[in-house]
Amino acid sequence: MTPQTDFLIPNTLSLASRAAWGGALTSLADVQRFVAFAKAQQLPCLVLGEGSNIVTGPEVNACVGLSRITGIRVLEENPEWVRLEIGAGENWHHLVMTALANGWNGLENLALIPGSVGAAPIQNIGAYGVEISQFVQAVVCVDEAGAVQRLASAECQFAYRDSVFKRRGELVITTVELQLHKHLNVNLSYPDVARWCAEQGVVQPTPSQIAGAVMDIRQKKLPDPEQMPNVGSFFKNPVLPASQAQALRQTFPQLSLYAQPDSQQLKLSAAQLIDIAGCKALSQGPVQLWQKQPLVLVNRGGGTCAQVLALATRIQQRVNSRFGVWLEIEPTLLTRLG
Ligand SMILES: Cc1cc2nc3c(=O)[nH]c(=O)nc-3n(C[C@H](O)[C@H](O)[C@H](O)COP(=O)(O)OP(=O)(O)OC[C@H]3O[C@@H](n4cnc5c(N)ncnc54)[C@H](O)[C@@H]3O)c2cc1C
Repeated sequence: MTPQTDFLIPNTLSLASRAAWGGALTSLADVQRFVAFAKAQQLPCLVLGEGSNIVTGPEVNACVGLSRITGIRVLEENPEWVRLEIGAGENWHHLVMTALANGWNGLENLALIPGSVGAAPIQNIGAYGVEISQFVQAVVCVDEAGAVQRLASAECQFAYRDSVFKRRGELVITTVELQLHKHLNVNLSYPDVARWCAEQGVVQPTPSQIAGAVMDIRQKKLPDPEQMPNVGSFFKNPVLPASQAQALRQTFPQLSLYAQPDSQQLKLSAAQLIDIAGCKALSQGPVQLWQKQPLVLVNRGGGTCAQVLALATRIQQRVNSRFGVWLEIEPTLLTRLG
């Protein structure tokens, strides 16, 4: 791989953006060479997957590598479970479908999440009652010195939309090891999924039927980035001390509160806060909120990074003045490198 200058950064928000240097990384050796190249250029090294969780400025003064290591390999298997090694550049949804076709279960609630396998542990992708951390055995990365590190699941410090990789941006993920099960138990904890099954008359759904339900629900609720550029949820759901969340609900009885496992904290719905704060009609040029899911900011065409961030700030300010809660932005901002 030879890095190119003036490199176009792919991103599902369709923001015009170029990096000083860039290239596709298809092997461990490519990653190690690219890390060394960035060091020689005295520029930050930043590796991206499919750009579905970034907000990027017009000029990014960094070496941007695209994570393109592929392969899905069985490491170990018995009648109960299978342990897989997956290249960071594999498409996430392709992995979910491949797993289901082989009778390897567990990922069905995470169907249709855009992006790459390597990016999935970074914010501990989650949907419909399941998070990837439930299946991660280890994450293999390259550090800033070019050395390979293997972080066991506990070392990844997984939490809601969070992991150690958020704080250690220098680590480039090359492969992810997952353990999936072979039994047919499914997770129906999320009301939308249970309701879908009831409506379809499905009493004991198989993992593939759950994936079908999740895909149907997502396609009805979320804009397809190919048609309407977006990065999914723009804000994290706030997690507050139980006393603060309950005090808020005394003032706003319509607020939904969700228990957090092993914690005294409660999660609020950012979409509900945005809605009650009256933000749904806000826009900044062609950047608007998606009416069916106000957590999603869409670029209706020609929007800029500045407009996306300006709208996000207005939403944060409005929600804060109504509830005293500052919404945290979920996608990675590549603006500080510009
Ligand atoms: C329509 C839509 C729906 C979505 N729904 C969900 C959802 O339900 N749940 C959810 O959790 N997320 C969701 N997302 C967000 C997004 O799909 C995930 O965060 C996904 O994991 C991003 O993958 P990516 O390859 O596009 O990452 P990118 O956007 O390319 O990168 C995201 C971050 O990860 C880092 N990164 C990527 N690859 C590597 C690597 N190999 N090594 C080191 N760092 C790396 C980047 O530097 C960046 O900081 C949604 C997005 C969209 C557009």
